[in-house]
Amino acid sequence: MSRDPRYDILFEPVRIGPVTAKNRFYQVPHCTGLGWLRPRMLADLRAMKAEGGWGVVCTEYCSIHPTSDDLPYPYASLWDETDIRAHALMTEKVHAHGALAGAELWYGGARTANLLTREVPLSLNSIPNQVGHPYQTRAMDKADIRAFRNWHRDAALRARAAGFDIVYVYATHDYLLSHFLSRTNNTRSDEYGGSLQNRVRLVREIIDETKEAVGERCAVAVRFSAEEGGGADGAPVIGERREMFALLAELPDLWDINIADYSFEMGVSRFVKEGGLEPYMDYVKSMTSKPVVTVGRFTSPDAMAAQVKRGVVDFIGAARPSIADPFLPRKIDEGRLEDIRECIGCNICYGGDGQGVPIRCTQNPTMGEEWRRGWHPERIAAKGSNASVLVVGAGPAGLEATRVLGERGYRVMLAEAGRELGGRVSLESRLPGLSEWVRVRDYRMQQIARMVCVDVYRESKLDVDDVLATRAEHVVIATGATWRADGFGRTHPAGIEKLTPAEKIFTPDDIMAGRVPEGRVLIFDDDNYYMGPVLAELLAGAGCRVSLVTPESKAGAWSSYTAEQIRTQRRLIEHDVEILPARTLTAFVDGEATLACIYTGREQRMTVDAVLMVTGRQPNDALYLDLSDRLAAGMDAAPLTVRRIGDCEAPAIIAAAVYAGHRYARDLDNPADAEPAMKHDRIDVGLVPAAQ
Ligand code: ADP
Ligand code: SF4
Repeated sequence: MSRDPRYDILFEPVRIGPVTAKNRFYQVPHCTGLGWLRPRMLADLRAMKAEGGWGVVCTEYCSIHPTSDDLPYPYASLWDETDIRAHALMTEKVHAHGALAGAELWYGGARTANLLTREVPLSLNSIPNQVGHPYQTRAMDKADIRAFRNWHRDAALRARAAGFDIVYVYATHDYLLSHFLSRTNNTRSDEYGGSLQNRVRLVREIIDETKEAVGERCAVAVRFSAEEGGGADGAPVIGERREMFALLAELPDLWDINIADYSFEMGVSRFVKEGGLEPYMDYVKSMTSKPVVTVGRFTSPDAMAAQVKRGVVDFIGAARPSIADPFLPRKIDEGRLEDIRECIGCNICYGGDGQGVPIRCTQNPTMGEEWRRGWHPERIAAKGSNASVLVVGAGPAGLEATRVLGERGYRVMLAEAGRELGGRVSLESRLPGLSEWVRVRDYRMQQIARMVCVDVYRESKLDVDDVLATRAEHVVIATGATWRADGFGRTHPAGIEKLTPAEKIFTPDDIMAGRVPEGRVLIFDDDNYYMGPVLAELLAGAGCRVSLVTPESKAGAWSSYTAEQIRTQRRLIEHDVEILPARTLTAFVDGEATLACIYTGREQRMTVDAVLMVTGRQPNDALYLDLSDRLAAGMDAAPLTVRRIGDCEAPAIIAAAVYAGHRYARDLDNPADAEPAMKHDRIDVGLVPAAQ
C-alpha cells in the first residue's frame, strides 16, 4: 500500500534555522519517568519514535544546573560530561533513523525544591515553592541572573556536544522564565521587571545567547504560552501575550506553542478532544515567519493535514499519539491507517512521571520496554511451536493476548461469554466522557479480524469441561473481575457488616448493565480514581441527588497523577454532587447510612435511597481455580500450561490488563530463564569520569 496523496503535505521537509526536519511529525518534549536515572531505556524509547518516522524527537525537560533539581520526578539533566555521554546514546540512535534530536533546556525556579542537590532554589523573588514544599526561593540578584545566563549557555554547548540539533529555551509551564514574563509573578523593580519590555528582557537575552553559542549548528526553539489563562475551556484569554509574542516573534528558529492550563493542554479525553488548542494560538502563525509546532492529541491524518493546510501549524506536535503509536508517521506514509494504535487520552503515560516511575501506556504495552525487555511495538518473534491456544475472555487482556499470539502465528481460539467483545472497555466507554476508550478494543478487533489463524467464539461462556473439550495445548484465562457490593476495599478489609436491603446496594457493574438507582444516592468511593466521579456524573445527569463519600481529601484523588483531578472535582461541583471528604461509610440499614470521620471517628447519619459501592473488585477466577483443581487431580491429555492474566489474576488499570495479555503472548514458548528476562537500567559508575 502507498500513501494517500492527501497526506503528502505531512511528509514535506521543513527547515528549522540551520537544520531541516525530514517531515512534519514532531515529537515534542515529553516526560517519561526515565530522565537521568535510566539513560539506556530512554535512548531506546526515543530511538523507537525515530524508527517509526517522527522527523523530530525531543528529550523531556532537561535541567541545566544543580540549582534546578526536580527529584522525585525523574527529569533529564545536562550538568556535566557524564550527561553528555548519556544523551549521546539517544542522539546517535535518533540520527541513525534520519530524525533530528531536540533538547529541552529547563530551569525550574520556584517549582523546584532541589531535594536531591540541596542547593538553594532561585527565582525572580523569594516566593514559596509552587508545588507545596515548605521552602522559599532566593530572589535572584544581578549576579544570579548573570550566573543563570552562563549556566544556560554552557548547557546549550553541552547539548550541542551531545549531538542535539535543536536546543530549547523553555519559557512556559510556570518555570523560571515564564515567571519573568508574567505580569502577576514578576514584581521586580529593576530592568527585568515592570514594563513588558523589561519582563521579556531575560528571555530575549537567553534566546540571543543560545543562538550565539550554538546557533550555527543547532536550531533554537522557544516554548511559549500563547495565552494568559483563566478563561473557560476553549475560550482563551490572550491578554498581552500577542504583544509579547510580537517582541520575540523573529528571534528563535522555531516556536513550540502551548497554553497556560496544563490540565487542558494535555487534558484527558474525558474533558478535552483532539485539536483543543487551536483557538488559543490561531494568531501565532500570522505573526512570525518561523515554523510553529503545537500539540492536540492528533491521531487522525485528516485533522493533521487540515491543520497544516489551514496554516495553523507547520509541524504536527505530539507527545501522547507518539507514545501510543511510535510508528504513526510510517503507518500514514505506507497507507496503513487501520493499523494506527490511537491514543485514548487516559494519561496513564503522564502518571508515571508524577509517581516518579517509568512511563507506561494503555494502548502500547511496549512503551518503556524497548531496551530492558527488547520489545518492539511492531515486530515480534514467530511462534515457538505449533501448539494451539485457548484464550477465555475478550476484555483488554484476552484481546491483546489473542492479537499478539495471532501475530506470532499461533492457532488461537478466543471464547467470550457475551455477544460483544471488549469486556470492561466496551462497558466503560459508554460512561460519560469515556467514549475514546473503546479504541483499546477496536484496534485489537481490527487486527484480529485479518488473522486467519484466529477464531473468535462469541456467546460462549466456558466451564471446565468446555475448556478441556477444546483440546487446546495452552489455556489462558482472562475472565476479568467483578465489583464488590459488600464494602470490601482499602478502608474495610473485611467488608461492611451492616448492609441491607441488598436491592438498595449497587455496584458499577449494575450501573453499566443498566440497573440504575433513583432518588438520593450515596456513592462510597474507596477506589479514588475515575469510576466513582464518572458514575456520580452519570447519576446526577439522570436526575439523582448524589453525595460522594471518600476517605481521601478530594474526589478522585489518584487522578491527580493523570492531570484530571481538578477538572473532576469541578465537574462534580457543577453537577451539584455533594462531596464528603475524609469520611468512610460504616453501615447502611433500611435507608439510613452511617458515615464516620476518618480522623475522629465522629459519626454522621444520612437518609438515602441507595448506596453505590466503588470499593474493590473480586477476580473472576473460579474457572481458573476449578481447572487447576481438575488438573491437579490428574487427567489424560491435559493442557501443557494454564495461566490467568489481567483482572482475573489481579484487578488493576486497563493498561495493566493489556500489558498482561501482551506479556503472556510474548513469553509463550520463550522460557524466561533463557536469558535475563529484563535488563536493569541504572546509572553506570563506569560513566563517571575517573577524576570525580
Ligand atoms: P480484563 O480487563 O482482565 O481483560 P475484562 O473484565 O475486561 O477483563 O474482560 C473479561 C471478559 O471475560 C468479559 O468480556 C467476560 O464476559 C468474559 N468472561 C468471563 N467469564 C467467562 C467465561 N467463563 N467464558 C468466556 N468468557 C468469559
Ligand atoms: Fe494515550 Fe493513554 Fe497511552 Fe498516554 S497512556 S499515550 S493517554 S493511550
